[in-house]
Amino acid sequence: MHDEELLRVENLRTYFNTPEGVVKAVDGVSFSIGKGETLALVGESGCGKTVTSLSLIRLLPNSAQVEADRVMIDGKESLGFSAEQARALRGKTISMIFQEPMTSLNPVYRIDKQLGEVFRLHEPGISKAEVRERSIAILKKVGVPNPAERLRSYPHELSGGLRQRVMIGISLAPNPKVLIADEPTTALDVTIQAQILELLKSLQKDMGMSILLITHDFGVVSQIAHRVAVMYAGKIVEEGKLEEIFEDPWHPYTKLLILSIPGIKVTRGGRLESIAGAVPNPLRFPEGCRFAPRCPYALDICSKEPPPETVIGDRRVSCYLKGGEAK
Ligand code: SF4
Repeated sequence: MHDEELLRVENLRTYFNTPEGVVKAVDGVSFSIGKGETLALVGESGCGKTVTSLSLIRLLPNSAQVEADRVMIDGKESLGFSAEQARALRGKTISMIFQEPMTSLNPVYRIDKQLGEVFRLHEPGISKAEVRERSIAILKKVGVPNPAERLRSYPHELSGGLRQRVMIGISLAPNPKVLIADEPTTALDVTIQAQILELLKSLQKDMGMSILLITHDFGVVSQIAHRVAVMYAGKIVEEGKLEEIFEDPWHPYTKLLILSIPGIKVTRGGRLESIAGAVPNPLRFPEGCRFAPRCPYALDICSKEPPPETVIGDRRVSCYLKGGEAK
């Protein structure tokens, strides 16, 4: 529990009915984020991270069945919201930036039109002059040089880094309390990546928003997160403070993810550690621990019964190697 909690999710389940059976993309996920805090949801692709975030902002197809015991955003229960209420919530309270700005910015409209739409959506009746003034201010805030000029640009006229800055500006225009950043730097080169992460950190400091960072990259996590939740096959398998997770990962999957960061840790032979095998098909999750088929430490019981969650202080882990310790 945080001093001021802006997002609380309890037992989120997002299932898809498919002709082959039920896909349990998110299967009982719980977490919370305090004001001004960044929680990184980390895991390989196909672990359910993006579906978790899309469930929160209600941007999933009709085939998705989203249920939870509780989803509180800025103190309001949001689960039973109508589509209309969810739309109002998106942007003003919770907003999202996506991985590839070229696919989320509309290529046929100039930046002024795309930013203007956001201001008008949340404040119908706002004057043209006010829209322009606020658009320039937000572009300035996200570090776009010559903002008045840039407003006249089409997305393809901007570099990848600038497009991502504009995308962040559009997401922050309604002044959200919670920002979901889904792989916000994956499509960018390392230097621009570092600049965008710095920008997110300084905007967070200014605006006090909470960030849910979705990433597969522990290198990115180490630069921006306060806490880390590691997700595997639809479940959170470990959660703790950034330093604790890095210095002493408890779950074998977390350990292997950290070892796979280029340049951070290598095996004795100097080889980069990678995780053998693949994330299991969500139509046929293994019966016991879902990581058992890939786990180098698996015990007999691991493939028979799912491990219980063990909570120690403000850390939690689901693994038999840490089971049975004080709760
Ligand atoms: Fe490995 Fe067993 Fe722990 Fe699963 S419960 S991560 S298989 S040791």
